[in-house]
Amino acid sequence: MSEDCIFCQIVAGDIPGRTVYEDDTVLAFLDANPLSPGHTLVIPKAHHERLNDTPADVAGAVMSTLHELVPAVEAAVDAPASTVAFNNGEEAGQEVPHVHGHIVPRFEDDGGRP
Ligand code: 5GP
Ligand code: ZN
Repeated sequence: MSEDCIFCQIVAGDIPGRTVYEDDTVLAFLDANPLSPGHTLVIPKAHHERLNDTPADVAGAVMSTLHELVPAVEAAVDAPASTVAFNNGEEAGQEVPHVHGHIVPRFEDDGGRP
């Protein structure tokens, strides 16, 4: 755990998060400022800053969870599609330095890229 990391604090239960899924390795929770209804974040419970720093088995668990959750999240909000993405590094738009995948449900005529 990184003491000043907001996502580590969610994993620890020190600040609230709306859990979508969890297992020993991975936590998925709703984004606090969703780009669309159902916007979900998938993180490893261990602190790794970006994909480059994440062990392959942990990255694989995150990807496996994304694979499971994409259809479930789409179904939950009746979305026909979703944008699934990692902002990998500050210059790419990563604001929280704890690796996370976004599932952003997309809707017809929702204005293009999130
Ligand atoms: P990034 O820009 O790093 O790829 O995405 C960070 C995401 O984390 C943003 O979509 C932002 O809304 C979300 N976020 C930031 N702080 C919190 C928080 O305290 N709780 C939750 N649930 N989401 C957060
Ligand atoms: Zn962290």
